Amino acid sequence: MTDYSILSLAKNALNGQAGWAPAWRKPDPKPAYDVVIVGGGGHGLATAHYLAKHHGITNVAVLEKNLIGSGNVGRNTTLVRSNYMLDRTLPFYEHSLKLWEGLSHDLNYNVMFSSRGIINLAHSPGQLDVFRRRANSMLLNGVKAKILGTDQIAEKVPALDVSNAARFPILGGLYQARGGTARHDAVAWGFARSADRRGVDIIEQCEVTGFLKKDGRVVGVSTSRGEIRAKKTAIVVAGSSSHVLKQAGLNNLPIESHVLQAFVSEGLKPVLDVAITFGAGHLYISQSDKGGLVFGGDLDGYNSYAQRGNLPIAEDVATMLLAMFPAFAKVRMLRSWGGVMDMSMDGQPIIDIGPVPGLYINCGWCYEGFKATPASGHTFAWTIANDAPHELNAPFSLSRFQTGYVLDEKGRGPFPGHH
Ligand SMILES: Cc1cc2nc3c(=O)[nH]c(=O)nc-3n(C[C@H](O)[C@H](O)[C@H](O)COP(=O)(O)OP(=O)(O)OC[C@H]3O[C@@H](n4cnc5c(N)ncnc54)[C@H](O)[C@@H]3O)c2cc1C
Repeated sequence: MTDYSILSLAKNALNGQAGWAPAWRKPDPKPAYDVVIVGGGGHGLATAHYLAKHHGITNVAVLEKNLIGSGNVGRNTTLVRSNYMLDRTLPFYEHSLKLWEGLSHDLNYNVMFSSRGIINLAHSPGQLDVFRRRANSMLLNGVKAKILGTDQIAEKVPALDVSNAARFPILGGLYQARGGTARHDAVAWGFARSADRRGVDIIEQCEVTGFLKKDGRVVGVSTSRGEIRAKKTAIVVAGSSSHVLKQAGLNNLPIESHVLQAFVSEGLKPVLDVAITFGAGHLYISQSDKGGLVFGGDLDGYNSYAQRGNLPIAEDVATMLLAMFPAFAKVRMLRSWGGVMDMSMDGQPIIDIGPVPGLYINCGWCYEGFKATPASGHTFAWTIANDAPHELNAPFSLSRFQTGYVLDEKGRGPFPGHH
């Protein structure tokens, strides 16, 4: 397969773009693999890429029930950051941000990572104190962070209403200059292409419908395209985790599936060159390279496996947008969609071996999943290859919900919908 380079771009420009091969093959499933990864989202594909690249494990299949990119990896609002507080979570997300910074080169695919900076706005003295504590924790962990005053925020984001007359006046904000956005589809396609060219079979429209077991061990999967045996079976199905893992005998996974919507406006001239989160409600917004405002807010508030949302949340999100940016009142909305979120009880993921022998699980990503894609794939591949937790994913064990050593960054308690 051709490398993407100045030369190959120029050559194909001259021959009418006729020289490109498909970015990945469409193989039929083989009867058996060393590793079967269920779920061709960002995390499944990243796991396949790192298994092949770092561990030389290439007899791997990624089984995807729909098409690559049709899940949350292609539905999110693309924010990437590592401004976390806990010593057990921050190093993982910082590792991910570092991988993002070199990802286009690593994949030979432009994932359009843009470290445009991210500001979390504070609207009360208490909230500003919480952000100061988070900034200090970041600095202690060697991650740059800054607390901005209202004037500095006004300078960076002229469109924002920073006046005292604002519905929720802004008192300051937490700024991470290295945070930003990436093009979500490109991330899926880049990981898929890289895994494929290293020998991984990416099998689309292949739904896993059950698990093959021998002496209590998972030894493969039943699928809509027949049985496939595997020495190791990794489940990375995001919002479908409870449903799929029930078939393997896990009935009480501490995960709920919820709908989260995203919204995109018509294209505007450049108006917002940092990502912003609104602290008085729940809203996050950035402007895409095409000019659309990309934003979202709360979950729809009920459990669902449907990839669509309801109008009350659209109204709620639009209200918050206008509380922050009254100047956007006449912007027209272009489209919205929903994704199925795998919400865990403490807002952090589960990356673990078992609990059934032969099985490896990766789920519970809540709002954190897109930014975590490279580190999730990197450390999960390590876990699958070495049959042990990687030091960065060790805190994300399933057993933390039994021991009580949970990772509740924001202190919101065991309510998945609140994380
Ligand atoms: C609207 C929205 C906004 C978001 N915004 C952000 C954000 O700004 N920043 C951030 O960090 N995160 C964000 N997230 C979260 C993030 O997108 C997810 O946590 C992450 O994408 C989940 O991992 P994934 O990419 O592997 O999931 P997915 O892409 O959903 O992959 C899982 C795959 O498993 C497949 N599958 C399911 N069941 C089966 C089966 N039985 N057999 C075979 N395949 C199966 C699905 O079809 C799917 O393709 C957002 C999510 C949504 C919905």
